[in-house]
Amino acid sequence: MGRLVMKFGGTSVANIDRIRNVALHVKREVDAGHDVAVVVSAMSGKTNELVAWATDASPLHDAREYDAIVASGEQVTSGLLAIALQAVGIQARSWQGWQIPIKTSDAHASARILEIDGSELISRFNDRKEVAVIAGFQGINADTGRITTLGRGGSDTSAVAIAVAIKADRCDIYTDVDGVYTTDPRVVPKAQRMNKVAFEEMLELASQGAKVLQVRSVEVGMVHNMPIFVRSSFDKPEDIDPHGTPPGTLICSEEEIMESHVVTGIAFSKDEAQISVRQIEDKPGVAASIFVPLAAANINVDMIVQNVSEDGKTTDLTFTVPASDYVRAKETITSAKGTIGYQRLDTATDVAKVSVIGSGMRSHAGVAAQAFAALSERKINIRAITTSEIKFSVLIDAAYTELAVRTLHTLYGLDKA
Ligand code: ADP
Ligand code: ASP
Ligand code: MG
Repeated sequence: MGRLVMKFGGTSVANIDRIRNVALHVKREVDAGHDVAVVVSAMSGKTNELVAWATDASPLHDAREYDAIVASGEQVTSGLLAIALQAVGIQARSWQGWQIPIKTSDAHASARILEIDGSELISRFNDRKEVAVIAGFQGINADTGRITTLGRGGSDTSAVAIAVAIKADRCDIYTDVDGVYTTDPRVVPKAQRMNKVAFEEMLELASQGAKVLQVRSVEVGMVHNMPIFVRSSFDKPEDIDPHGTPPGTLICSEEEIMESHVVTGIAFSKDEAQISVRQIEDKPGVAASIFVPLAAANINVDMIVQNVSEDGKTTDLTFTVPASDYVRAKETITSAKGTIGYQRLDTATDVAKVSVIGSGMRSHAGVAAQAFAALSERKINIRAITTSEIKFSVLIDAAYTELAVRTLHTLYGLDKA
């Protein structure tokens, strides 16, 4: 007997039939003798609809009210699943973030979890064998008590953090794919499912765009060494042996992984924007004049490239920001024009970042060079490059994303036979 968190994403709770299917997955684990806390997302498409309503009401809106609106999707599914569980004879109760409580920072719309008190949930496991059905994605501001949300995809983080709080043996993430693949299987049908992925590599895959797990969920799992198992909710509940090993991918510490590859996977993101500040005088303090105001505006700069301008005398600085911060970044640079002293600003939003990830890069030279050659053979122009210990990324025209991902997937021998 053990203790489990089971998280179900949007497509897994898309309608009442799918919620009934989830109830059967939960019943299977309860019948096997486990204590179970379930974390649910909103029905698929619901959060997008709520976000659109908030934006429609006013494009620049109060983040506290955004949170009050978008948190409602998970409130609905938690209640519905509790009812569906009761209907199949399982004792269950829904919990909103504020009821547990899941205390978070005050960064509305992208709050961080600070503390979860799991004691009430645990005593209900012990006293009543009651399943907790928890609304994912939401918490409360620890100072004001107002509802917060954890950023898009945040139910994954709710699930892993709850697993830590109730000292679960494992956190199962049920989704619409049966594991983590070498790249998005919807883009590359030849992608292969991995049995195990190290936290560190999963952190890079997620932060470079593999949305199967929210980055922070992997961070929390890594810090607390909580095993995360990604699996499909579309496998029939009745076909699964609760004591066997179902198809899926275990995210775990590196020591538990025997086989190692130079390249583990490829991620991509079209959520990027490029800003090139042209013809700046090449002198100390120029980079600071650009990046200090961006940091002050809370804009995350990712790739940075500096090169000589076309006049041969001045310098150009190119960098990328998340597409959602593009307009603000452009405004920030324009209003700092006086201190930066540039001639021209070039920007592009039809760009994509493709990243190659693998802990084997620590000990293998020339991995990135192979990619540059393969992309140039395909006539794909590289706008910017960044590298770190276990990954490198290239910025390219968005139109070539799929071609680039497939080319690199084949290049590094990741295609399924
Ligand atoms: P949920 O609603 O269950 O949270 P998401 O849509 O957030 O599901 O995440 C699952 C999706 O992530 C998959 O449908 C898949 O298209 C995408 N994805 C991107 N990269 C990967 C990858 N490397 N492995 C598996 N899925 C991936
Ligand atoms: N419903 C939220 C979203 O769509 C949170 C989640 O699904 O993880 O972003
Ligand atoms: Mg998700």
